[in-house]
Amino acid sequence: MRTYIAALIALVCWAGTAKADKKQYRYVGIHPIAKAAGGGVCHIQAPHVHVYAPIDVKVQFRDHDGWNYFVGDPVAYGWDGPKTSYYGHHPIPVDVIVEDDHPDTEYCYLEGPHFHAWAPPPKLDLELRAGAYWYVGTFPPAYAEGKVVYDPIDVVYQPIRYERPTVVVDAAPPGWYGAIVVAPAPVVVVPARPARVSAGVEVHVPAPSLRVEIGVPTVQIGIGGGVIVHDHHDHGWHGGKGKWKKRGRGHR
Ligand SMILES: [Zn+2]
Ligand SMILES: [Zn+2]
Repeated sequence: MRTYIAALIALVCWAGTAKADKKQYRYVGIHPIAKAAGGGVCHIQAPHVHVYAPIDVKVQFRDHDGWNYFVGDPVAYGWDGPKTSYYGHHPIPVDVIVEDDHPDTEYCYLEGPHFHAWAPPPKLDLELRAGAYWYVGTFPPAYAEGKVVYDPIDVVYQPIRYERPTVVVDAAPPGWYGAIVVAPAPVVVVPARPARVSAGVEVHVPAPSLRVEIGVPTVQIGIGGGVIVHDHHDHGWHGGKGKWKKRGRGHR
């Protein structure tokens, strides 16, 4: 009997080894599942492996102690678990989120409103405004260095149609480093005629010298008493109920 059990164990181990020969990819935290493997979002938080490679690994994942950690917006892939709204770039305290002892701060380069599955840890300098968290702390040089490689992440999301958080703001929080230019900004006085300014108008003004342009470029156009914060980027997620709206001062 003992010999039989030993043989059985050996067989199971052999089968396991044979299976392990297939390339495995290491993941930690939730992440999108490759379309070929069924799509959707994997809910496993602890370190684990799959036989499929991370999607858009160059911009969507960071290496966390040898494991692939997903830094994108899981809602775009059908995540229906807890989620928190963020606006613009911010640090990602990976070790705090996955609850391990390997210090690791990465940076999110998604523009405008988006989701993450994690709620902000208390130590992160975030300000809650209009239902979203805005990072108002200082970015270290690592953020600027990573921007070159990781900033194109928005391109991945452009073709994906999903509901982003609706964030309507009069002004970005003080200390936020994005480029929703609100405070003392270059004001272009539009001539009285034509009085109408369509949403698609392009007005070129000199870049404001007071802010680092990191987030979504916007310009302000002064018209009478009101100011329109005009977004001259097409982000691809307009339309539908939850379109990203920005409102200028004086529109109340
Ligand atoms: Zn997984
Ligand atoms: Zn983010």
